[in-house]
Amino acid sequence: MRKKLFIPGPVDVAEDVLAKMATPMISHRSKEASELQKRISDNLRKLMYTKNEILLSTSSGSGLMEAAIRSCTVKKAAVFSMGAFGERWYQMATSNGVNADVFNVEWGNAITPKMVDDALKTGEYDLITVTHNETSSGVMNPLDEISEVVKKYPEVVFCLDTVSSLGGAKIEVDKWGVDICIASTQKCLGLPPGLSLCSISDKAIEAAKKVDYKGFYFDLVNIKKYVDSKPYQYPSTPSLPHMFALDYQLDKILNVEGLENRFNRHAENAKFVREWAKKHFDLYSDELHLSNTVTNIKNTKGISVKDLNNALGERGYIISNGYGDLKEKAFRIAHMAEATKENLEDLFKEIEDILGL
Ligand SMILES: *Cc1c(COP(=O)(O)O)cnc(C)c1O
Repeated sequence: MRKKLFIPGPVDVAEDVLAKMATPMISHRSKEASELQKRISDNLRKLMYTKNEILLSTSSGSGLMEAAIRSCTVKKAAVFSMGAFGERWYQMATSNGVNADVFNVEWGNAITPKMVDDALKTGEYDLITVTHNETSSGVMNPLDEISEVVKKYPEVVFCLDTVSSLGGAKIEVDKWGVDICIASTQKCLGLPPGLSLCSISDKAIEAAKKVDYKGFYFDLVNIKKYVDSKPYQYPSTPSLPHMFALDYQLDKILNVEGLENRFNRHAENAKFVREWAKKHFDLYSDELHLSNTVTNIKNTKGISVKDLNNALGERGYIISNGYGDLKEKAFRIAHMAEATKENLEDLFKEIEDILGL
């Protein structure tokens, strides 16, 4: 049975967007391909509130995360981690031989501006990574405050993971001074998995030029070179099906739904899920920094999340268990991309019926 997805990626894709994946192929070296990539980049700049250039990557978001920390760390990276995806960024650094330190907060909490200031004050770091929305714990970092601190250190390259928030929350790249802002297609953007994208500043590219071994496929300087000089081409063969669908979806996001409406819908759905969670269970994470795209619910009733998910599966729904160590201790309901309050109401009715709430 086809299941309605309430997991934090991949998400359900609207039928008309999905159909664009089946667009007949064109030459990736054609003028049409350049125009397609340019149109996508122009629209992504609007979505990210930036004047910076946009790079596409035929990989999931992890590819660009690895590219960023590997390509742009000259001295040492400071990784701020509040969950699984922060930890992943640190693993990417160490497994590439990139000098890095990790600064952790306990799952369920946000990164504090003070932590960032204390680390950067040492002068040891020339790159930092921050997760905007930690999908494993359901926390959204206070970027307005964190970015104010980072701005005191203009030599530092600021990398931000917005994989599970771009398209579902306002990401103000230029206001926040973000040098590399990364997202995948399969979360709040509402597309199938397989493509990722980032904005990139000149500062990040200048830093990357000083790094000798950036690998080949994920060399950000090379990807940027194609955008600048070809122009708007990709060094290898990009996933054209994703580009057709992304082009169409960005037009829908910007011109049919509208950015403010889309962000408000996510915020309202988040509020609705939190109220339901508090009525029957409890929230896992710090209530001052809750995610607008995924809610992490504390399993206060000691239910079997696995059994609940199996029962939901028979009714055509799927939610997520707690991530890693939080398995069975918590469960997650995603409300990203095209999720509506009506969809969530249907899901809650089924959960209440299964659990006898
Ligand atoms: C899903 C996710 C990732 C990994 O993205 P992929 O596209 O699966 O590589 C990274 N960071 C966050 C916050 C995520 O939610």
